[in-house]
Amino acid sequence: MKRLAVLALSSLATPAFAHFGDHTHFDIMGLLEHVFETDHIVFATIAVLTGIFAYRAGKKAGLKQKGDA
Ligand SMILES: [Zn+2]
Repeated sequence: MKRLAVLALSSLATPAFAHFGDHTHFDIMGLLEHVFETDHIVFATIAVLTGIFAYRAGKKAGLKQKGDA
């Protein structure tokens, strides 16, 4: 779980690849406005859904493995 938190935090420092472009020239308010634009929201949604599906698949696999033993 700790590893997951570190991974989530480190991903904040990387670009979301929602679109090409430089994200370093914003001030704080400009950056906040920018990340709530549609393309960023769409990619954030995809990332969150992928995380949820991966977590559920992992949990399901773990339960199945427990049942087999
Ligand atoms: Zn952007």
